[in-house]
Amino acid sequence: MNWKSLLANSAAAFQAYLGVGTVPQFNDTRVAVIGAGAAGSSFAYHLSQYNPEMNITIYEKNDYIGGRVKTIEIDGETFEQGGSIFVATNSILSDAAREFNFTTDIANNVKDDYDLGVWDGSGFVFELPRTNKYLQLLYLVRSFGLAPYWANRLKEEEVGKFLNLYSEQFFPFEDLQSAAAEAGIEPLFANWTSASEYFANNSISQKYQSQIIEALTRVNYATDLHTIHPLAALVCLEAQSKSYAVEGGNNRIFQEFVKRSNANVLLDRSVDVIAKIGDKWSVDGEYYDYVVLATPWAHSTINVYPAITIPKVDYTELHVTHVVSPIPAQYNFFGSQKTYEQLVTLPSNNSIPITSIGHARVTKNGNHVYKLFSYERLSDEYLTQILGIPLSGVWRKQWYSYPVMAPTPELARIEVAENLFYTSGMDPFISTMETNALAGKNVARLIADRKSN
Ligand SMILES: Cc1cc2nc3c(=O)[nH]c(=O)nc-3n(C[C@H](O)[C@H](O)[C@H](O)COP(=O)(O)OP(=O)(O)OC[C@H]3O[C@@H](n4cnc5c(N)ncnc54)[C@H](O)[C@@H]3O)c2cc1C
Repeated sequence: MNWKSLLANSAAAFQAYLGVGTVPQFNDTRVAVIGAGAAGSSFAYHLSQYNPEMNITIYEKNDYIGGRVKTIEIDGETFEQGGSIFVATNSILSDAAREFNFTTDIANNVKDDYDLGVWDGSGFVFELPRTNKYLQLLYLVRSFGLAPYWANRLKEEEVGKFLNLYSEQFFPFEDLQSAAAEAGIEPLFANWTSASEYFANNSISQKYQSQIIEALTRVNYATDLHTIHPLAALVCLEAQSKSYAVEGGNNRIFQEFVKRSNANVLLDRSVDVIAKIGDKWSVDGEYYDYVVLATPWAHSTINVYPAITIPKVDYTELHVTHVVSPIPAQYNFFGSQKTYEQLVTLPSNNSIPITSIGHARVTKNGNHVYKLFSYERLSDEYLTQILGIPLSGVWRKQWYSYPVMAPTPELARIEVAENLFYTSGMDPFISTMETNALAGKNVARLIADRKSN
């Protein structure tokens, strides 16, 4: 029997197939969350804080907690393959790290000639020398005039509006798009205006856009300035601020969220079917009062009955490669004898599929670890050619990392059907660990409030 087609016919058929006559009623409130990434783990933790009586079950198809936040070990040290940094304004992550006593101020120990090199295919169009931050500021002003100041002003203003979503005036929000509209930032993602048009309209020089802002959008979202929406580009500017990462891996926050939620955790459990039966939702045959989809719909392969509508979102296929070598990289391939902590390629260069190369750290064993982002898998031979060094280890991970961050007129609703919630509408708006943790916390509060009313 083709059970999937049987299910598709009707919820009644589903009940019949499972041999379920009546929908069970429970004394407690049962909640299922699909996905144990930033959103799902934050949801479980915050719901348990708002209402410790809730009975929470987490389904996670991977054998680890964290989703797009994942670490590898090189020379016994931790390196991030996914979500890597957060900033001080990311209060859910910062507060959690503080509460859990995690160290987050990790200094990089590499000593390159330049902090940043921006390569356009024929040469370095911008190089930021490794020196103190005041001299770097002077250097930026000499190169770009007041453009960095004006771009920063725009960023402060718009990110400030976004941060209002955390305030009591907005939180919890039933609908992200309406909340963003009320906060005054909807035009920054919903209009068909690219970041390059936005910055040009705000008199930010072409030179600063193409040499610095675009370098940031390529490092953070592997996306060019003429395709990314203005809000995402401004978030990339925010990522220039002092950044933090949890010692031992950012996923420790999400593991701790799950642990403290006391949820029933089912790892290696991929959910196939969610169906409304009576006043409950069935998740692969188990009944719940509320279900939270905490994973991008685009790649979840979950069947929901009755069908739900979630706007289509395209994700970037991104390859993250960690390379280990006993000696520092030599950038002869790029026509330079110097070294760079962060090397970014510009889109005018079509000759290589790499968007950035970062000198991540020198391990205690003296090995240099480089992290490359690319649109395709990089072979060992190619890596040797690009970095000009022998490879003593290579780690590869392919992701659907984040939405392409193009202007998005319609974000997904949060409650996609009665008592069925979706967090990843946040992703095409701003895709970060913090914002998805906020999406999870928001749904937790919506459900907790509903139960207490
Ligand atoms: C390479 C890379 C670099 C990044 N850099 C940064 C950064 O520096 N800073 C930052 O803030 N953000 C960064 N991000 C973005 C950030 O990691 C994500 O926005 C965030 O972690 C997404 O969290 P999420 O919980 O919404 O989704 P996910 O992390 O994708 O979690 C969804 C979970 O659902 C599970 N799942 C899916 N389908 C099913 C199913 N059928 N049944 C059960 N489980 C299922 C998945 O296995 C996954 O664990 C980066 C992402 C990548 C990939």
